[in-house]
This record gives sequence, structure tokens and C-alpha cells, in this order.
Amino acid sequence: MPAGDCAVPRSADVVVVGAGAAGAVVAARLSASGADEVLLVEAGEDYRSADTPRAVRGADIGRALAARALRWPELPARLTPEQPPRPYVCGRGAGGSSAINGQLAVRGTRADFDAWVRAGCSGWSWPEVRPLFAALEQDLDFGDEPGHGARGPVPVSRRPMGGRGPVSAALHEAATGLGHAEHPDLNAEGATGISPTAWHRKDGVRASSNDSFLEPARDRPRLRVAGRHTVSRVLFSSGRVSGVELAGDGHREVVAAPAVVLCAGAVHSPAILMRSGVGPDDHLAALGIEVVAALPGVGAGLGEHPAALLDLRLTAAASALAARADSGCYLLRLPSGPGHTDDLQILPMDRTAGPGAGGLLVSLMRPESTGGVRLRSPDPADHPLLDLRLLADRRDLERLGRAVQHAAELLAHPAFREVADGGPARPPADLDGWLRERCRVLYHPSGTCRMGPEGEPGSVVDEEGRVLGVEGLWVADAAVMPVPCGVPPYLTTVMVAERLAAAIGSRLRRTR
Ligand SMILES: Cc1cc2nc3c(=O)[nH]c(=O)nc-3n(C[C@H](O)[C@H](O)[C@H](O)COP(=O)(O)OP(=O)(O)OC[C@H]3O[C@@H](n4cnc5c(N)ncnc54)[C@H](O)[C@@H]3O)c2cc1C
Repeated sequence: MPAGDCAVPRSADVVVVGAGAAGAVVAARLSASGADEVLLVEAGEDYRSADTPRAVRGADIGRALAARALRWPELPARLTPEQPPRPYVCGRGAGGSSAINGQLAVRGTRADFDAWVRAGCSGWSWPEVRPLFAALEQDLDFGDEPGHGARGPVPVSRRPMGGRGPVSAALHEAATGLGHAEHPDLNAEGATGISPTAWHRKDGVRASSNDSFLEPARDRPRLRVAGRHTVSRVLFSSGRVSGVELAGDGHREVVAAPAVVLCAGAVHSPAILMRSGVGPDDHLAALGIEVVAALPGVGAGLGEHPAALLDLRLTAAASALAARADSGCYLLRLPSGPGHTDDLQILPMDRTAGPGAGGLLVSLMRPESTGGVRLRSPDPADHPLLDLRLLADRRDLERLGRAVQHAAELLAHPAFREVADGGPARPPADLDGWLRERCRVLYHPSGTCRMGPEGEPGSVVDEEGRVLGVEGLWVADAAVMPVPCGVPPYLTTVMVAERLAAAIGSRLRRTR
């Protein structure tokens, strides 16, 4: 089958929307038994693993970000009221954001899932999800250690010492010099402080969900993948799913299906729900969309990780080394203060804007502030509106500010003398103003279709991913996370998709 040229069937037993990090997992799992006709619809290009564009195969995030054909074009987001809207990066095409992301492979932690339980998500405690993380990984360094996995679909690897860039090496020395703990395995339980970065990559080659999950399932006769087709909305009959409507290249088609799983990501899954009449009733009414189920939580609770870059001008020697080495080979995690569990992350950037430019990327991983996704219009060609409201909660501003101050202390360590030209970068005097005007994001959206108990105002799906108030519709991607993941979210998204796919599969078997 030439990927991307699949004729769309008129019907399917289940339609999965979005072939991204989660959708590839869900489609692979639901097609495994061969009992159901599974149609996976992807708005962007579909391609086989072997045909992955060169720009996104390797380790260089800069090249991946420049691959504009693999992201949603001109998707604008407002980060803070002080900043004009800027383009927001969101993957489009086989693998979704996992095909263009930074490849950091960090498991969710006990603290994350304690928060899920506090949010009322039963069945998602740390002891229940931890084995799933182990099952999905093929850890090439620690696979045989207790709590790890060596045979899962996602290769996880770290960079050998020799390939680490100069900013990475200096951060390691400075962090240990300032007394931070060191752990060789950042995915070990309780690991904190500085660790070699783990990546979803093998032999220097990216492993996206397209590679790890979809490729091995591609030849199944009852799985079809339709690239370059955008789902405009889910169709209902008397509150029950009856199919999806596709829009693209000036035509509209309908695929009849009794079950639909949205895996369009935390930006687009809520947009599809709202276009389908599931969402805040006042917003839908204002746009003239007929309400099928009033769920005020759809599009609300958008979580993101705010970040700040402390720039460094590299010496000529460091710049030459950086050009040959991998960037970001260590990750420093630390708490912002008493009562916080590793809510700050500092990532060394051996290359940023170009030759001679590096820095420390500082981010707040457990923010209090949340933003929202809204529709501009019912037309699927119109991008949704993203208002991230980063740092709106004063506590976030203070915690990110503390992280920046600590990064400046690290940069003042003698380890950076050989690396940085012109002395250490200092945070500006008006740190709050600078952060509001200059903060950026890590492109980790979540929480816009939150999992939670039925009856709570913010809940959109139950603990099996079923959309409340309708029949036959699920969400199974990063949108369901009830609180932002305290680490980069790729592995957690895959774990969530695996778990929800198992629940959806058993529901489908019972109703067959
Ligand atoms: C630049 C960048 C860097 C990142 N770095 C890291 C990192 O280093 N480590 C980490 O853990 N995480 C990282 N992430 C985040 C991680 O990749 C995401 O959390 C994860 O991919 C989310 O998975 P998802 O399935 O929810 O959405 P996605 O992977 O974004 O998949 C959604 C898919 O749905 C498709 N879609 C959307 N709307 C429609 C529609 N209407 N019809 C059909 N298809 C549709 C999209 O085209 C896309 O393919 C990064 C993300 C980005 C963008």
C-alpha cells in the first residue's frame, strides 16, 4: 500500500482520528485482533517509516522544527497578554508531534499520578501505571533493571559520554559542583537532580509513534490509513455516534461508524468535539452550532510548560565542539521550594539560533495557570484560538523566576568559563516583566478534554476515555490528562493511549 493513497471507505467499525503519538498506538492496538475494520484518518501526509523525511530522522530538533510540511501551518497562540500571538508548533502527518519533537523520553512520575488520583481518576495510580511504562520501552541502557523493560516497542537510549556537547558537559559539572544529586537513569523511581537525557531514539535515529507502533501494524488487512483527510466533525444520531465527516481539497465525505476515537491532540481533539456540538453550550450557541452534549470542560484547562532561554555566546572552541556533538545531553530536575516535587527542569542547549549560540532552557513543569482552546468559527479550515495564559497565576511567575535565578548561578560556575564568551548571562532586573514578555513554551499541550468524575464541571471523559453524555465516542490522547505532566509528555501520552486502547477494545468486544 503506498501510504497516503488509501481510498476512504464508506464505513468502518471504528474510526481513529489522528495518526499522531497516541493515534498510532490506538489504531495498532484496535486492529490487532482483526475483528474490527479500523480506519485511521490523518490530516497530514501519511508515509511509511522507511520514507520518513531526512530532516526529522536525526537528533537535531532545529532541523525538525524547520520541516514545515510536518506541522500545522500558521497555528497562532497567545502565550501571555504582554506578547503578540506567535506560531504554535503542533505536528501534522504520520507520527504527529512525535515525528518532530525533541525526542526526550522521560516517564511520568509518582507525583504526576498522585495528582491524577487527587483529580478523581480511579485506576490511574502510580502502582497501576508504572508497569505500563516498563512494558512500552526497550531501554537500551537499563532494560534489565527492575522496573524497566527491554522488549517494548519504544527504543530509549542515552548519548555516550564522548558525544555530549560543551554546554551539556559544563552543566553537568556545574550542577554536581553546586551539590545537585546525580542519577545515571532519569527514569528510575525517585531519580532527581542531573541525569543523562534519555531519548526515544536508536542509533541516533528518531523513533516516532509511526515507527514504533503503526509501521508494524501496516500490513493488517483490516487496518486502513487515510492521510491528507481532515475530520471536520463527528456525526450523531440520537446522542449516539453514527460516523465522521471528512473535509479536504474542496470535497466532503461521510464515513459511517458506530465508534470514533479522537486522537487529534490537545489542540484539535477539543476543536473537533466543539464543531460536533460537544462543548460549552454558550460558546457553541454563539457560533450557531447545535448542542449535542453540554460539556463546559471541552477546550478549558489547557496545560503548557512555560519556559525561558538564558542565552550564551559560545567560544570558538566550544562552538566547534557543539557543531559535532548532540545537544541537550543532560537534564537537571529540581524542586522550586519546599512542598514541590521536581517542578523545574533545566536543559542545556548546545546549539540554539546557529553557530556560536547556546544556552540553558529553563521550564516550569507543574504550572498552576491554565489556558484554553476555542473555535473561531465552525469551519474546519479556520484554526482554533489558543490562549495559553502562561504565568497568569502569580505562583508560576515566582517559581519560574526562581528557576531562572538558579540557572544564572549555574552559569556563573567556573565550568562555564571555557564555554561562554563574555561572562555569564544575568537575568534582567525586571525579571517578572521579562518573563511575561519573553517566555516561551515547550509545545506540550494537554488537559483540554480532561478525564474526571462524571458530574464535575471540568470533566469531559471518564477513566476509560469515554466522552460524557454521548455514546460511542472516546478521546485517547494528551488532551485527557487531568493535570499537566511534570515531565515531557510523550511517554505518558503513549502509556495513556495503550491503556485506553485496551479499555476501548474490550468495550467494542462486549458490544459486538
Ligand atoms: C516541537 C515539539 C517538541 C516536543 N518535544 C518533546 C520531547 O522532547 N519529549 C516529549 O516527551 N514530548 C515532546 N513534545 C510533546 C509530544 O510530542 C506530545 O505530547 C505528543 O506527541 C502528543 O501526542 P498526541 O497524540 O496527543 O498529539 P499529536 O502527536 O500532536 O498527534 C495529533 C495528530 O492528529 C492529527 N489531527 C489533528 N486534527 C485532525 C483532524 N481534524 N483530522 C485528522 N487528523 C487530525 C494531527 O495532524 C496529528 O498527526 C514535543 C512537541 C512538539 C510539538
